[in-house]
This record gives sequence, C-alpha cells and structure tokens, in this order.
Amino acid sequence: MPEPRKFSGDKLVIASHNAGKLREIAALIAPFGVSAVSAASLGLAEPDETEDTFAGNARIKAHFAAKNSGLPALSDDSGITVNALDGAPGVYTADWAETPNGRDFPMAMTKVWDLLNNKIAPEPRKAQFRATLCLAWPDGHDELFQGVVHGRLVWPMRGVLGFGFDPIFQPDGASETFGEMDQEKKHEISHRADAFSKLVAGCFA
Ligand code: IMP
Repeated sequence: MPEPRKFSGDKLVIASHNAGKLREIAALIAPFGVSAVSAASLGLAEPDETEDTFAGNARIKAHFAAKNSGLPALSDDSGITVNALDGAPGVYTADWAETPNGRDFPMAMTKVWDLLNNKIAPEPRKAQFRATLCLAWPDGHDELFQGVVHGRLVWPMRGVLGFGFDPIFQPDGASETFGEMDQEKKHEISHRADAFSKLVAGCFA
C-alpha cells in the first residue's frame, strides 16, 4: 500500500451542510492549526448522494467540494447500523428522517424502535455508528478513513446534546447516551473521532 498523501495547506473545506457534523469536525481539526471553511460559506451546493456505501458517498461530497473550491476538502458520510435490522438504516440514516418540512429525527428514531419492537428483537439491541472520512484534493486524489463505535439502542430517548440518532445510542462501556455526553467525552470514543485519528496518522503526521 502506498503511503497516504500528506495534507500540507493551511485551509480545508469541510464538505458538509450538516450543522452537527460541522461542529464536531471543526473541533477535531482545531488542534492542527488548519483553518476550516464550510462548503456552505463558499456557496457550494450539496451534491446528490447516489452511492450505496459510506465510502462512495463520502467521495462524492469531498471531490465535489475540492473541484469547485480549488482547495482540499474533507467530507464525512456516516450513519447508524442496527444488527436486528440487517444493518439498516445505514447509508440511508438521514433519509429515514426526511419529511416534506425537513429532517425529523425523533420520528426516525421512533420508526427504528417500532421496527425492533415489531420484530421482538432481543435486548441488547446492538448497533454501531459508522463514519467514513474522505480527504480529496483538487487534482482528483483522495484518502479514505473509516471509524466505528459499538453500542446498543435504548428507549426512551435521553439527552439533548449531539445530533441525529444520539439520544438513543448508548456506547459500550458507558451509562450515558451520546445525547447526554458532552462533546469532549463523545470525541474520546465516537466513530467520527476514530476515523479522524486515522486521518491524522495518515495525512497530518
Ligand atoms: P449523511 O452522512 O449526510 O448521509 O448523514 C448521516 C446521518 O447519520 C446524520 O444525518 C445523522 O442522522 C446520523 N449520524 C451520523 N453521525 C452521527 C452522530 O455522531 N450522532 C448522531 N447521528 C449521527
């Protein structure tokens, strides 16, 4: 395997329009003295996520932002995989929350829990948050890094911190859900932080 390409600039586009992800990625990147600009602040559109893998969609987002900004761009494609639902909602996690009036995560979490109840899925209802980060350069090169955190789904929803499915995900070894955890604690164990530490080792070291 060739060595990953090193990131050598001082400016990086964060190829996401998701406020929760932007906040977390900006915090993860801050210690590296890289200034992070969001795709939205550059007026970049959101490309359609037409692939059926995290890696495929992460590549679409990062390459679109790198090509249209002329800067290296970092994307995140992520979601929750539930064992008793054969890995759903997975790549389609955000889609399960779509409504005509925007995303509704309490609705999406209720749908997941109802499906588990209908299947009489045994406890613990094992699940994983998964993230793929893609760092892409304007010349078309990219590097991919994957992260995972294992846990279980719990009910009712707990906590107002974080975003998305955080209120029903309790990571292994913790008594709090991600929705109850402060950001620093989530960053010690999250799927995004796991992928990010591989990115740092590969491209920032
Ligand atoms: P996408 O990567 O833009 O397709 O969206 C991923 C979706 O997965 C998000 O909208 C969230 O619902 C969910 N997700 C990914 N990472 C997290 C997380 O750290 N906490 C809670 N939900 C997450």
